[in-house]
Amino acid sequence: MLIVGAGPVGLSLAIELGSRGIACLVIEQSTEDAANFPTANNISIRTMEQLRRWGIAAQARELARDLPYGRLWMTSLDGCELARFSYPPNGNPIPQPFSPETFLWCPKPLFDPFLARHARSLGSVELRYRCRSAPLEEAAAVRGLPLRVADIHLPEALHLYQRRLTLVRPDGFVAWRGDELPAEPMALVDAVRGV
Ligand SMILES: Cc1cc2nc3c(=O)[nH]c(=O)nc-3n(C[C@H](O)[C@H](O)[C@H](O)COP(=O)(O)OP(=O)(O)OC[C@H]3O[C@@H](n4cnc5c(N)ncnc54)[C@H](O)[C@@H]3O)c2cc1C
Repeated sequence: MLIVGAGPVGLSLAIELGSRGIACLVIEQSTEDAANFPTANNISIRTMEQLRRWGIAAQARELARDLPYGRLWMTSLDGCELARFSYPPNGNPIPQPFSPETFLWCPKPLFDPFLARHARSLGSVELRYRCRSAPLEEAAAVRGLPLRVADIHLPEALHLYQRRLTLVRPDGFVAWRGDELPAEPMALVDAVRGV
């Protein structure tokens, strides 16, 4: 099983599969410590229940035990403070009547590597960083269309084609141009094949 992306979703899937002994390979285009923007800060109660199922809720709580947690409402980053909410620290959660777990404050730069470590500890999971899936090449391979990718760093090429990406047929016909890969690479491959 190939899983593309070692974010919370890919890693959770790997943990689910790995805990059943199903072999899977997770590929991630960036490095393991690349998550440096604090998204996914609040690990919800439901997510903590998943971690509990995997036997790692207590470890997650320990990992984030000393993180300070508060929320400020500001007019701008360096503006006036409008309101401030303080929360109990992670190490001192307030249980709710409906769940054995409490939510956790654990930003993505901590949480993703934590999930990765657990996924890797399951024998059947392999993680590869700096490894990118290439949807267009994959789509071409599925259709048996020969496709060669070339990095051309010539200003003339950019000037000529006016786009960062160009798909050229062997007869020189420019079949497609764009700045980003199309959302549906298979549709492009089929169009180039004239299907
Ligand atoms: C500002 C902000 C605040 C947020 N706060 C919260 C919060 O408090 N609580 C919460 O639960 N959620 C929060 N979220 C949402 C949360 O971050 C996302 O729901 C979560 O990260 C989604 O996980 P994911 O694995 O689907 O995607 P991602 O975390 O984006 O991971 C996808 C991974 O796939 C990799 N990838 C993509 N394409 C390829 C490729 N072709 N080959 C190899 N690798 C590839 C990417 O590099 C990336 O690492 C927040 C989001 C934002 C933007």
